[in-house]
Amino acid sequence: MGKIKKLYAYEIIDSRGFPTLEGKAILDNGVEVTSAIPAGTSIGKYEALEIRDGEPARFDGMGVTKAASYINDLIAPKLIGASPTKQYEIDYWLIKADGTANKAKLGGNTVLLISQLMVKAAAAEQKMPLFRYINGLYQTLFKTKLDVERIPSPIFNIINGGKHANNSLDFQEFQIIPSSSLSFAKSFEIAVEVFHELKRVLLYRGANVSGGEEGGYAPNFPTNQDALEVITETVNQKNLKFGVDIFLGIDFASSHFYKDERYIVKDKPHPLKVEEYLQFIIELSKNYTILVMEDPLQEDDWENWKKLNQLISKQIYLVGDDLLATNKTRLERAVKDRACSTVLVKPNQIGTISETLEVIDLARKNNFNYIVSHRSGETNDSFIADFAVGVQSDFVKFGATARGERVAKYNRLWQIEREELANK
Ligand code: PEP
Ligand code: MG
Repeated sequence: MGKIKKLYAYEIIDSRGFPTLEGKAILDNGVEVTSAIPAGTSIGKYEALEIRDGEPARFDGMGVTKAASYINDLIAPKLIGASPTKQYEIDYWLIKADGTANKAKLGGNTVLLISQLMVKAAAAEQKMPLFRYINGLYQTLFKTKLDVERIPSPIFNIINGGKHANNSLDFQEFQIIPSSSLSFAKSFEIAVEVFHELKRVLLYRGANVSGGEEGGYAPNFPTNQDALEVITETVNQKNLKFGVDIFLGIDFASSHFYKDERYIVKDKPHPLKVEEYLQFIIELSKNYTILVMEDPLQEDDWENWKKLNQLISKQIYLVGDDLLATNKTRLERAVKDRACSTVLVKPNQIGTISETLEVIDLARKNNFNYIVSHRSGETNDSFIADFAVGVQSDFVKFGATARGERVAKYNRLWQIEREELANK
């Protein structure tokens, strides 16, 4: 069994042009793996803290040399000789060494890099596809049976707004979701074609087709509903049927347009009180074939999440991202309160793979759905694609069907379907 011989971290630049951590683990039997860490732009209040250097003269303060040095000088020397298969022990050793509720001391980025490197090194050492190792890890840790049978259904973000684009749209992600009954290959094909058709429709309307942070277009429209209209027109143009072939999704990321107890959206002439805003959400759900609504309400409004969940959860997946922050305590509350039906899972919101798997296990045991998600700041590491297959998430969201850091994940799903799951 291979033991860690060398472990180190360094800076690379992410898809937004900011530094992030990448690292390598080298085992004494020659196995060598690399992994990199994503970062969010619309970061929720309850996420693990990311350690950044904060030196304005270098990368606008966004450097991660301090986090790299925590790995190189403090953590790595203590892990030399350890087996990377000791995922839970290593993760909990890191959690204890950090000692804070939100990884404020070592940094969620620091801790996650080690955690991901252990998973990758253990999988490589056992000569297993990464998703199969992750699946086995989940089954062993939680003494649960979970067969790998399908590729999670993809959610594609084709128009960007909010904090992810320099445009007029308040909502952060306008998504298309091909029917879950389709293979991944077919879903991807449909999304790629809709994405190109959308460009033609936007150009015809004289709209901007430059991209946002997750590779979607970033047009300026007077209202958010205009973005839904333009996607509807595109889908019709492709002769796809809403509710049969394809569905819509929205990540509102609403904490970012909630100010002074009002929701401020361009669709309405004045800032909305929560009761009026809920009406608006219901209107949207009636006027469009929406399957997924993420963070329609801000991250502290548990009462109205509960209310909305009662109103829409029969037809729509109500997803907590900023609300739940991949945090077990917050998910426990959501389960108890029935505040939503689905948890968005982003490993860097919590910091370790073991804690991420605990959140997934809690979701599974309480009939919550779960969606594995990328971050807006990504790298070419496709770890998250294997992770999603390994835990058999209901959906994944990895951004648009363009840009290297997004398609690295989709192409990996496609490869798993083709090479590992076909005819099985
Ligand atoms: C999101 O909000 O779901 C998202 C992926 O964006 P970010 O990574 O900026 O939080
Ligand atoms: Mg979100």
